[in-house]
Amino acid sequence: MLYLDYAATTPMYDEVIDTMTEVMRSYFGNPSSIHKLGVEAELLVRRARETIAASLGCTPGEVRFTSGGTESNNLAIRGAAYRYRSRGNRLITTAVEHASVYETFRQLEQEGFQVTYLPVDSTGVVELDALKQALTEDTTVVSIMFVNNEMGRIQPIAEIGRLLRSRPKTLFHVDAVQAIGKLPVVPEQLGVDLMTGAAHKLRGPKGIGFLYCRRGVELEPLMLGGGQEDGLRSGTENVPSIVGMAKAVRMAVEQQPKFAEHTAAIRRKLVNCIAQIPELVLNGSTNAEDMAPQIVHFSFPGMKSEVLVHALEQHGIYVSTRSACSSGAEKPSRVLEAMGCRREVATSGIRLSYSLQHSPEDIDRFCRVLQEVVTNLLPSAARREKDGGKL
Ligand SMILES: *Cc1c(COP(=O)(O)O)cnc(C)c1O
Repeated sequence: MLYLDYAATTPMYDEVIDTMTEVMRSYFGNPSSIHKLGVEAELLVRRARETIAASLGCTPGEVRFTSGGTESNNLAIRGAAYRYRSRGNRLITTAVEHASVYETFRQLEQEGFQVTYLPVDSTGVVELDALKQALTEDTTVVSIMFVNNEMGRIQPIAEIGRLLRSRPKTLFHVDAVQAIGKLPVVPEQLGVDLMTGAAHKLRGPKGIGFLYCRRGVELEPLMLGGGQEDGLRSGTENVPSIVGMAKAVRMAVEQQPKFAEHTAAIRRKLVNCIAQIPELVLNGSTNAEDMAPQIVHFSFPGMKSEVLVHALEQHGIYVSTRSACSSGAEKPSRVLEAMGCRREVATSGIRLSYSLQHSPEDIDRFCRVLQEVVTNLLPSAARREKDGGKL
């Protein structure tokens, strides 16, 4: 099997599995209990917080644990929008965010907030002039993702951070789920106030994440109860997952330079391979520096994404589409549409995402199979495109 869907989720590091097993077996205490077992568990949570803080170049008090990327995004955006509503009710995000950001802003609109969805250009990068124009005195939150999870475009976070530094009343939130361990990510250097991370995208466990919350930034909690995480996120801590996440974050951040170099070479190989198949179009920027090294995204115009995914699956190769297929209707990708792709391209996107585990031979094999599968599907693709992709 060849798993090329690391942006969806990753296999855990063996070391992380071992550590978590030991914690589950031997350290089952509640970190809030005042007896020895509680104190031991509390110490593990504290150490994990310190480890993540060291990996991000921040202080332990700036790291808050959540149930994952989705919760961190909800907490950052809603928590800040509600907390600072007396300052203003304007919010800014982009048209290409992950659903957990996008749907949160849609809901806030329902609740009376005014939301600007910044456009992106044909490579998927946000237009800074549009951001400058949208910023007003009563803008409280700007949320822009670091690396797009669908097509891998990197947003100019440091530049946006510089722009927003002169506006202390506007908080800058970054969904960095697809960037941590892949690119250098130090929130303080980037001028970021709130930053989302998720463990299962960097070989840690599912159902656990964190929110970097710069000192001095206050949030309205979404979950009320026992007051864990400084009152920001009540609920007994998921101790084994917190410990596992800290280990995975440390390993991923330590390996980041190696990861970037290795995956950049794979990306070059994949881009070449796709360029040799005339039926395929590469999405995103042609400048490698604009793109996350661990993601390649292309379309096979006229061929519904699902068909190619399943054809590759027949060969033991697992890739991804952001599948939104209900009752036979093809829903084009919101992200590709925002980039101005025509419908045949927006309904035929395929994402390849990979890691340090993949060898050049894996990629050669993938390319051979892709070539063969595309050739076999060609007649039906041509037919479909002629019919306007309606079949
Ligand atoms: C996966 C992902 C999320 C959601 O994280 P979960 O831990 O699965 O809830 C959020 N943002 C991005 C960019 C992602 O890729």
